[in-house]
Amino acid sequence: MTKRDFYEVLGVTRNASADEIKKAYRQLAMKLHPDRNPSNKEAEEKFKEAAEAYEVLSDPEKRRRYDQFGHEGMRGTNYRDFTDINDIFSTFGDVFGGSFGGGIFDEVFGASNRGRRRRETQQGIPGSDLKVKISLTLEEIAAGVEKKIKVRKQKKCDVCNGSGAKSGSGMSTCPQCNGLGELRQVSRSVFGQFVNITTCHACGGEGRIIKDPCATCHGEGRVQGESTIKVNVPAGVSEGNYIPLNGQGNAGQRGGTPGDLIVLIEEQPHQYFARNGDDIIYDVNVSFPIAALGGEIEIPTLTGKAKLTIDPGSPSGRMLRMRERGIPHLNKYGRGDQFVRINVWVPMKLTTKEKELLRQLGSSEHITPNEEERHGNPKSFFEKVKNAFS
Ligand SMILES: [Zn+2]
Ligand SMILES: [Zn+2]
Repeated sequence: MTKRDFYEVLGVTRNASADEIKKAYRQLAMKLHPDRNPSNKEAEEKFKEAAEAYEVLSDPEKRRRYDQFGHEGMRGTNYRDFTDINDIFSTFGDVFGGSFGGGIFDEVFGASNRGRRRRETQQGIPGSDLKVKISLTLEEIAAGVEKKIKVRKQKKCDVCNGSGAKSGSGMSTCPQCNGLGELRQVSRSVFGQFVNITTCHACGGEGRIIKDPCATCHGEGRVQGESTIKVNVPAGVSEGNYIPLNGQGNAGQRGGTPGDLIVLIEEQPHQYFARNGDDIIYDVNVSFPIAALGGEIEIPTLTGKAKLTIDPGSPSGRMLRMRERGIPHLNKYGRGDQFVRINVWVPMKLTTKEKELLRQLGSSEHITPNEEERHGNPKSFFEKVKNAFS
């Protein structure tokens, strides 16, 4: 078959400038691009022909030889025949605006190059992330804890080692999308031409299919299973925090990268304590004699029991601070405090004898507040609360 004249192929005159040649080739390449003309042999041939012509005419030295000697003049030079389409892409990447997939091709052909590149650099289809909640007590949060959790998830198929293929059988290019992983449909409207890109349903966007699928996972390369996963929870976490575990989510399909496991922290309500940031608030009921005479009482804390001294004459509502008895700070040194609020206990069940003693006590001089002492100060209550937390 005789070769067509290169100028004719590109549709330019013999004295066309380098820019004109480049422009002409670019237009032709877009029109004839295999992505736009799937399984069109004629377009593919023309695409190669244009690439050939461009390789010669874009090179001043080769162009001079061609002008002088025609196709004969190309013999013995490093001029070549393009047989592989991908060869054309790698040779003329710069015509399409720099690195392949970056410039003009992306604009014109949408994500086609992404599909091709993905197929080259990454196997399979990535797995999805998983979310699990773990519920922790305040004690666990204060100490930090290692939790083992059972997670139902997609795991790599052991039979085919995640490939999805029966042993010995390999993969082949998806015939539906020719390995691009995408299907494109050109539609015309009053606004112009649109290229509609959808993920290929035959290969799930992977661009390849399995010749003989593994019987256990039906070619997915993964199966539903259960894993026990260790989670190290640092001290000081709080409700709504999460711990991402890389690669512990659902396995990918056919060797695709696994997703992450996101561990969400839930805080269980505590029987006695309330949490305020990294501080703990605790209400203690003390007897009237202790509040009046003072004494030492036992206080529960997140790290065990502790002694607390009550000063003589401690009024109900007094806040005491136990330093460094709270929750460790998550991202810095140190920990919060425990605040203890004193309540003077008023008994509800009394024996006859106790009642008699209290009556005697109530009539004595300092037990009942006098006219001046009878009136409290509501403002001081707010002050106290504010001071306690400052
Ligand atoms: Zn399998
Ligand atoms: Zn496909």
